[in-house]
Amino acid sequence: MYPWLVPPYHRLQQQLQRGQLAHGLLLSGIQGMGKRVLADHLAKTILCQHAINAPCKQCHACQLHRAGNHPDYHLLSGQGANIGVDTIRSLSRVLAESARLGGAKVALLDHADKMTEAAANALLKTLEEPAGQACLILITHQPERLLPTIRSRCQQWALGLPAADQVLTWLAEQGLEANTAILNINQGSPLQCRDYLNSEADNQRLSLLQDFVALPAQPQRLPQLQSAILAQPVTWLWLHFLLQDALQLAQGLSHWLKMEDCRALSRQLSARGGHQLLAAITGLRRLEQGVNLPGGRPLNRSLQLGQWLNQWITRGEKLAG
Ligand SMILES: [Zn+2]
Repeated sequence: MYPWLVPPYHRLQQQLQRGQLAHGLLLSGIQGMGKRVLADHLAKTILCQHAINAPCKQCHACQLHRAGNHPDYHLLSGQGANIGVDTIRSLSRVLAESARLGGAKVALLDHADKMTEAAANALLKTLEEPAGQACLILITHQPERLLPTIRSRCQQWALGLPAADQVLTWLAEQGLEANTAILNINQGSPLQCRDYLNSEADNQRLSLLQDFVALPAQPQRLPQLQSAILAQPVTWLWLHFLLQDALQLAQGLSHWLKMEDCRALSRQLSARGGHQLLAAITGLRRLEQGVNLPGGRPLNRSLQLGQWLNQWITRGEKLAG
């Protein structure tokens, strides 16, 4: 299990031992924290036939779980699709039956926010009238999307972000060298940082931001930059951070930049002055939010991005002239 999950796991384990664990749990926290790993480990602990040292990894229940064959363990995932009412109804039926191994029954609902309203209403009954030793673990990074009635019937476990130092140490143990900029770009999420560092994303970020800063001097590269931005939604965040950092520097605040590793670039941009930078940030935010054109026509994102970049070039030229 990931080191930052150990303290919450211990708290859950204590509640289980004291018989205080609710039969409906809601695990929330940002993406890339390993919520599913934690839920799965808790499920193993609940199902293990040994009260002490659970999960023991040796009993029949632990072996079945490892092989993915435990008859009283149920996993539903809303990844990529909605969780419909029929799925919830059949889960409720299974949970109402007695446990095959005579112990507890555990169901994990990953991406629980993907339940349709009918599915959520069907789940309410199961949460209200649990049969036997059933434990339902709902997992989501968007708890606000769940019906308030679902949330209020669950014991809520909101997982806080691990400390930056812990994430950096863990990444180093995986052979990955990170910095605070990489943490900020990935919202401090350790698994997102790992995936980011295992991909080409960091090189892409640095080269995209360099191209953006150089754009007024090389306007012919606009189409290339435009497609690079449109290809990956995360590039909007990179641009935001760069512009915000530039604004900070323009205002004489240089202590805490989102992307310390791009300080030279944001320093260069800060020459544009606070007014221009703020206008650029506002424009970018409007684009990102998908503001519709007057008359209700849907936003042509590519066109508007092109306009935004053109404005950026023109204003830069004025400044240079
Ligand atoms: Zn066991």
